[in-house]
Formats: sequence, structure tokens, C-alpha cells
Amino acid sequence: MSVETDKSYNPYQEVLKILDLAAEKLKLSKNDYEALRYSERELRVSIPVEMDDGSIKVFTGYRVQHSSSRGPCKGGVRFSPEVDLDEVRALAAWMTLKCALVNIPFGGAKGGVHCNPAVLSERELRSLTRRYTAMISPIIGPEIDIPAPDVNTDAKIMSWIMDTYSMIKGYNNPAVVTGKPLLLEGCLGRGEATGRGVMLTIVNLYKKLGQPLAGQTVAIQGFGKVGNAAARLLQEKGCKIIGVSDASSGLYQEQGLDVDQLIKYVNAKGNLLKDYREEGVKHINNQELLTMKVDILIPAAIENQITEDIARKTQARIIVEGANGPTTSAADMILEEKGILAIPDILANAGGVVVSYFEWVQNKESFKWQEAEVKEKLAVIMEEAFTEVWKVYQDYQVSPRIAAYMIALQRTAETKKLRGVFP
Ligand code: NAD
Repeated sequence: MSVETDKSYNPYQEVLKILDLAAEKLKLSKNDYEALRYSERELRVSIPVEMDDGSIKVFTGYRVQHSSSRGPCKGGVRFSPEVDLDEVRALAAWMTLKCALVNIPFGGAKGGVHCNPAVLSERELRSLTRRYTAMISPIIGPEIDIPAPDVNTDAKIMSWIMDTYSMIKGYNNPAVVTGKPLLLEGCLGRGEATGRGVMLTIVNLYKKLGQPLAGQTVAIQGFGKVGNAAARLLQEKGCKIIGVSDASSGLYQEQGLDVDQLIKYVNAKGNLLKDYREEGVKHINNQELLTMKVDILIPAAIENQITEDIARKTQARIIVEGANGPTTSAADMILEEKGILAIPDILANAGGVVVSYFEWVQNKESFKWQEAEVKEKLAVIMEEAFTEVWKVYQDYQVSPRIAAYMIALQRTAETKKLRGVFP
């Protein structure tokens, strides 16, 4: 049920294309940002796991650190059969740009393990996570590189990472990973933070457009951690969520889906949207979801979903990227020609890393903030970043994506310049 993706798509080449465009607009010389075209460090590991049937299976994992110029590297860990080095490289570079855009003192990293977690037992998943953590432990740490959840990883997996690293070090190290459960020094509001950031981005956008948000129709691709939190929070703002999808199928209801009921349904382990039944709810595929007539489309699944073909067919007025890299650069140009406003990933989904930053700060202080404080501080940072992007978008007459990259690139390149090239 997935969309026909662009076959020549290489996510890392996509990052470089936009980086070069942003550098051109900023009139940066090659020297100013050449180092940012490469990851600082790339680690590939083999992860042997004793499976439940007694056999040994070896999985491949990666941890890529794109840049540590602005602070410790930061980025999630993804478990997926699609993971490869170029994907992890791109995701790491997007983290550098995202952290710079929202101006938090982190660089960018990402990790991934090539596996299908849906077919692993809990014991196999735990062994895989622990061995992966042990293999990357020489290059992670609270002051070096701090993992977090991403596709198919969650608070439970973060607990195993925290415990494994702490066992290796011989003392408790909560600040080595974020997105942990509350009992293990997690942060209130982290679970919904990326979805909340998506909602705040849309609120900020509608303020700039001078239009009311209530009553707007929304379609969301991907009903995982990001998609379902965004759906719930936008519904609270009076939006009508008329379409949602996961990897198995999509659902459509003209008068608005019952988001709370759907969240309960998917949170019950193993439930897929293809098996969901409710009167008046129609099953659709991902292509139909991405091209339906809707005010706001939120891709919140994986990369390479809004392809040239989808961009030509899409009827959305506004696209807000919950996922990382959902739109190809070729599709982006079509969206621009069609006058569809696309708010880029490095702005729209930054809520997760901002609250991860809050979690790390609390861990280092051994202190817990109230949830209201987390929400308030997140809203301030998201509004500041949005305002900056909007200003560059208007001043330079570029797309919001180029505007966001320009701010992030300028900030990172300037930091690098101040520090100089070692030795
Ligand atoms: P998740 O694993 O919780 O959910 C992913 C969802 O996407 C699931 O519903 C899955 O079925 C669906 N999906 C997967 N492949 C699909 C396909 N081919 N077609 C349609 N749906 C598909 O993951 P998540 O944490 O919600 O992450 C989603 C996206 O948001 C990713 O791009 C991730 O990098 C990005 N992101 C996540 C966070 C975070 O804090 N979790 C932060 C920033 C960005």
C-alpha cells in the first residue's frame, strides 16, 4: 500500500542539493561550508543476536555523526528494513541543520539498524538493542552523542540503551539518551513533543496567514508517535482530521475521524489500520491519502513519499512535514510552481529534539521540570524559529525550505569559522 517512490532517490544527495542552493543564496564560498558536506564520523557495526530458535543472526547497524561544531551530536535511532548508510547520513545531516535552526547547543547524528522489528520477539529486540548499544558505546555519551527514539523505536528501547551504557560505564548515565520513560529520568511531554511541534508550527503559520485554523481539514500519512500526537493536538484546535494512514492502509471520513478511538486502537500492540472497521470510515491507500482534497497534508511516516508524481496530483493547500525528508527536491519544485506552501521538516518536526534537549538538561541537573514549563518553553522556541524562517522567506523570496536551510547553514558555518579548522 506504499506509494511509488522515486527510484533514483538518494536522501544524502537531496540534503546536499538543498545545502548548495541555500549556500548560493547566502553567497557563501565553498570553503565556508565544505566540511558540512561530509559526516564527521561514520561507524558501521555487525550485531550478532541469538534468536529464539537458537540460531545466530547478524544484523547491520550504523551510527553517523554529521557535525559536533555546535555541541554534542544528537539524533534518533531507527530500526527498519529500509535502513542503509545513505539514509542514516542524510538523517544525521538534517539533525545538524534542525538543531542549528532552533538554536539549541547540539550537533547532528543518527543511528539505524537494518532489521524488521515486527518479526522479532521482545527478547530478540532487547538483545539486538543491547548489542547495538555496546557496539556504538565508544562513540556515544552525554557529552559526545546522545541517541533518541525514531521510527520503530520507543521509550522502552531507550531504557535498554540507557541501562546497557550505564552497565558498561559502571554508574548510572541517564543523560546518554533521551526519550526515556518518566521513571528513568524521562521528560514530561517528550512522547508527544514532535507532534506538538507540528501543531505549533501550523498555529504559527495560520497566525502569519491571518486565517482561522478551526475547521481546517487535515490528512496525515503515518499514524505513529509523530502522526497520532499531531492528529490529537490539531483536533483539539478544532481541525477536522479526515484522513490518516500507516504502512498497511489509510482511512477516510469526510466529517472527521474519531482520533482518540484510533489512537487507542493502534496503541493496542500489533493493530494495523488495514484491520480497523467503523461505520462510515472508508479504507484508502497511501497514494489516495497524499492526493486527497484537504487544507493541510502532514507526511509523518518516512522519506521519499511526496514524489514528482504525487506533487503533480496533490490537492493539499499546505504541506507540513512531520517526517524527515518526505518530499524529494524535484517534487518540491512542482509544489512551488503549484503555489502549495511546504513547511520543511527541519522546522516542523523540531519539537522532538527541543524537548530531548530539555530532558538532557534536566538529567544533567538531576532536576525535574513541570509539564507546563516544558510546553511553554517549547512553544517559545518553535515560535522564534518560525518567525525567523518566515522573515527570510519573505525577505529573500525563497521557499520556506530554502529559508530554513539558509538560517541553519549560516549559523553552523559561522560557528565553524569562529572555531577555525583544527589543527
Ligand atoms: P513511528 O515508528 O512511531 O511511526 C511511523 C508510522 O509511519 C507508522 O504508522 C508506520 O506504519 C508508518 N509508515 C511506515 N512506512 C510507511 C509507508 N511506506 N507508507 C505509509 N506509512 C508508513 O515513527 P515516528 O517516530 O512517528 O517517526 C515518523 C517520522 O517522523 C520519521 O520520518 C521520523 O524520522 C520523523 N521524526 C520523528 C521524531 C520523533 O521524536 N519520534 C522526531 C522528528 C522527526
